[in-house]
Amino acid sequence: MNPKSPEARNRDEKPFEGMIISSSETLDKLEGRSACPRCGKSRMYFCYTCYVPISLIEGKIPMCKLPIKVDIIKHRREIDGKSTSAHAAVLAPDDGPKLELLESCTQEKEIHQAIQISY
Ligand SMILES: [Zn+2]
Repeated sequence: MNPKSPEARNRDEKPFEGMIISSSETLDKLEGRSACPRCGKSRMYFCYTCYVPISLIEGKIPMCKLPIKVDIIKHRREIDGKSTSAHAAVLAPDDGPKLELLESCTQEKEIHQAIQISY
């Protein structure tokens, strides 16, 4: 689609139009970090190690079902706390997004080859 088309311009001005978005009030009220209910490490909204929300928001955030099974492959040098991939595991626990950690460049090449073959 032409990025300068009227449709594209309208979408840029109203990127969330037509979406059902829950209130963020629960998250806005949090005043600091809390202990993860599983590992006890200090976290803000969810634990990126255990893939669970902190106790203060458990049951108050929407859970979703993913339309497809997702496996997330991370590079070993990707910082867990900075990765956006853990969100899927927190918000769609029944679909069990599995996060794999790459241990070597050889493994990374094998995964790239597997992805190319599956397409
Ligand atoms: Zn944890």
